[in-house]
Amino acid sequence: MGNEHRRWLFADQLGDHFLDEGDQPVLLVEARSVLERRRFHRQKAHLVLSALRHRAAELGDQVIFIRTGTYGEALDAVAEPLTVCHPTSHAAAAFVSGRAKVTVLPARGFTTTREEFAAWAEGRGDRRMLMEDFYRDARRRLGVLMDGDEPAGGRWNFDADNREPPPRGGLGVPGPWRPVEDEIDEQVRRDLDRWERDGVVAFVGRDGPRAFPATRAEAADALACFVARRLPCFGPYQDAMSSADPVMAHSLLSPALNLGLLDPLDCVREAEAAYREGRVPLRSAEGYIRQVIGWRDYVWHLYWHLGPGYRQENRLSARTPLPEWFAELDADAVEARCLSWALGQVRDHGFAHHIVRLMVLGNYALQRAFEPGRLTDWFHRCFVDGYDWVMTPNVVGMSQHADGGVLATKPYASGGAYINRMSDFCHGCRYRPDRRTGADACPFTTGYWSFIARNEERLAANPRMARSVQGMRRLDDIDEVRAIEADRGNAPP
Ligand SMILES: Cc1cc2nc3c(=O)[nH]c(=O)nc-3n(C[C@H](O)[C@H](O)[C@H](O)COP(=O)(O)OP(=O)(O)OC[C@H]3O[C@@H](n4cnc5c(N)ncnc54)[C@H](O)[C@@H]3O)c2cc1C
Ligand code: SF4
Repeated sequence: MGNEHRRWLFADQLGDHFLDEGDQPVLLVEARSVLERRRFHRQKAHLVLSALRHRAAELGDQVIFIRTGTYGEALDAVAEPLTVCHPTSHAAAAFVSGRAKVTVLPARGFTTTREEFAAWAEGRGDRRMLMEDFYRDARRRLGVLMDGDEPAGGRWNFDADNREPPPRGGLGVPGPWRPVEDEIDEQVRRDLDRWERDGVVAFVGRDGPRAFPATRAEAADALACFVARRLPCFGPYQDAMSSADPVMAHSLLSPALNLGLLDPLDCVREAEAAYREGRVPLRSAEGYIRQVIGWRDYVWHLYWHLGPGYRQENRLSARTPLPEWFAELDADAVEARCLSWALGQVRDHGFAHHIVRLMVLGNYALQRAFEPGRLTDWFHRCFVDGYDWVMTPNVVGMSQHADGGVLATKPYASGGAYINRMSDFCHGCRYRPDRRTGADACPFTTGYWSFIARNEERLAANPRMARSVQGMRRLDDIDEVRAIEADRGNAPP
């Protein structure tokens, strides 16, 4: 065994790339207090514990695995000095920095370092820190999808080609990789059942078979399966939603990436190799790679750049408490087909793909002024891939526009027409997407116009929203639309 310091690995740092040497001594901690403090989705608790225990089993004698109440108790039980890769939340960073025997190393598990991001941000001067510019910088720096100094295929971005609605007969892609549970999963399930019975922990959502990788080998299989079978269709249908196909051609790799089981650069290199070998069209490879070295890293760096206060941003003064039916994932209480389906996905799987999060769940919350901090907490607890660093910018910034436009130049608000175009939900819904008054007025359409009216002054100053504001001012029934919304209040639509 090498003579490195013992490496303390958090539960989201489980891959080999968090170690310096394969045989480095390791500390793993299963702290039950994390589960006691908040009501996580049952399947999220299962996935994290399963991954942690699988890693401990793999490491054998190399690891000290402490199952205890708090991290503090675990550290008190270890005498030797420790190193840890920079943790992924402000709270955990503060915790480790206050420990004399713990040396904090730079973060791993992302493709751009903090120094590289700082140099890029500094170089922008007063210009906005646009994701697209960050992404191009990363492509050049990492040499990904580049032909010399030029982007492969002569274009940086195929986004405009990648907004097709779901095809009528379905996508026809093979389903995603799914694991087979083992005895570690059985043990985790027994423990969670017991703790819940004893009243020590409480969960939200339903239990179900583990659906995401818990080991590096499983994650590698899931990646290979995605690249070989599903990535070719990824590009064009990235924004599409289908009640018959909840995951379309998405990778479903965010839980494995965020547990640290996959190195994001490996995902990118495999996608690029598939393109270079003619197995995947460029627009799909580029679409996927932009999500990983673009969005994922961009969000990660903004989390640190914007600081702990960012979570409290609330520039649209949104103060509605989360209604019980929404907080409890009561999909059956909801008649609006899209929203009921989306909540059902979260309840049953702790997962929904990006557009479902943004344009159904987030859109509904934005329209009704759900309090952004509480909504962030809800997303964080209810989604299997939710962590503070990724949820905070995605919810506060991208989805709720509570940062006044740092992350997205305009709010992601839309009426039923968008959902109708990009999904099959409206057919068979009791509402009609094109109605904003009357008994079958679509709650997303009434919600959209009410949102614009409520924030009229602020949105009128945003050039990208000015047309919507003008459109709202031309509506002769806007008072009636707002009255419908006021009547509905916080009741399920
Ligand atoms: C309101 C809201 C909440 C979100 N919460 C999370 C979250 O808790 N955890 C999370 O990983 N992603 C989150 N996202 C981003 C995105 O929705 C998920 O990463 C994606 O749906 C995961 O599914 P996938 O692996 O099939 O993604 P794919 O569509 O296959 O995309 C490929 C990869 O790109 C990365 N990625 C893409 N977009 C983003 C983004 N905006 N931020 C960070 N990474 C991104 C993910 O690692 C993902 O695996 C959120 C987005 C919104 C709008
Ligand atoms: S009609 Fe409105 S509520 Fe119903 S599915 Fe369409 S967008 Fe959703």
